[in-house]
Amino acid sequence: MIQSSGYAAQDSKSSLTPFSFERRDAGPKDVVVEIAYCGICHSDIHQVRNEWGGSMYPMVPGHEIVGKVTAVGAEVTKFKVGDLAGVGVTVETCMNCENCKAGAEPYCLKGMVGTYNAKTYAGEMTYGGYANNVVAPEHYVYSISPKLELAAVAPLLCAGITTWSPLRHWGVGPGKKVGIVGLGGLGHMGLKFAHSLGAETALFTTSEAKAADAKRLGANEVVVSKDQDAMKSHTGKFDFILDCVSAPHDLNEYMSLLRLDGTLCQVGLPDQPLPVAAFSLVTNRRSLSGSMIGGMTETQEMLDYCAEKNIVSDIEMTSMDKLDEAYERVVQGDVKYRFVIDMATLKA
Ligand code: NAP
Ligand code: ZN
Repeated sequence: MIQSSGYAAQDSKSSLTPFSFERRDAGPKDVVVEIAYCGICHSDIHQVRNEWGGSMYPMVPGHEIVGKVTAVGAEVTKFKVGDLAGVGVTVETCMNCENCKAGAEPYCLKGMVGTYNAKTYAGEMTYGGYANNVVAPEHYVYSISPKLELAAVAPLLCAGITTWSPLRHWGVGPGKKVGIVGLGGLGHMGLKFAHSLGAETALFTTSEAKAADAKRLGANEVVVSKDQDAMKSHTGKFDFILDCVSAPHDLNEYMSLLRLDGTLCQVGLPDQPLPVAAFSLVTNRRSLSGSMIGGMTETQEMLDYCAEKNIVSDIEMTSMDKLDEAYERVVQGDVKYRFVIDMATLKA
């Protein structure tokens, strides 16, 4: 077994504390990554605090992982020791069902295994990236370009792909009017991608103070969602809206902004249902949809696109001893725009 150390939540109420554990040795198809940086996703907080139910403890969160390969199994072909590599939200799927075969592994019919707070098909607990190392099959490990700032790549492994996948699936590009709701980790990546893909992009925010940043990140327009008149002035104008909000909010307000055949895609995962009026749907023949992270091939495509276009996350670096403060600031919507843990602080 490989000795690992990290930080774990022991229950839904306490702070994360140092935790030693074991990971499996690299099997023939496995890659071992020494973790340099790990992003803090709002999903980490939802799960640590058991806001979605079913959390398993001790829980080592973290699914925006980047670092260097330290070992590879005999059958690994994509990586060698010393390569930069990333691990995201998924570490196992059946690879055999129609969804896996279509490259849509998060929708695996046997069930995708998360990087943490999950059990592998063999029944081992998975532990995430707030730790010194991680082991994953090469199918779920991504190549990372040395051209990009490594720490700022980490959030691409969840926030990046979770926004990239629906923007691509719904054909966002030139001639489309796109709205991004919520300027947090996901939202700021959605904004960068929608702008880069050539769409006319508006950012909806509850935080007026983020308006200037939103423009810098690519918004043609910023709408403060508390301003009812500003919201109404956009009725029926959008082809696609990507909702990245982590807390309960009124979807009907956003549905009303969609034009004929427009789609609202929910990626934010509040812990409460989001009621939708039938009239919000039938008017303009609108669609309400959702999307979960992204497939392995499209994640690598997104990373390669980012390397080509020089796109990374806007990050604030944090340390292992400041997780409480970082979590609180994420919940308050006060991070620009993703916390990343410098794993060197684990040793300190
Ligand atoms: P985040 O950084 O906390 O961003 C969430 C943003 O939502 C905030 O910055 C804020 O933006 C807005 N917001 C927060 N509270 C709000 C409220 N009460 N009303 C309206 N807006 C509010 O979170 P994140 O890491 O981007 O994650 C966002 C959500 O996506 C989480 O629920 C997470 O679990 C989920 N997620 C889903 C997937 C997936 O596969 N579908 C993957 C990863 C994460 P403003 O200040 O601009 O209003
Ligand atoms: Zn995430």
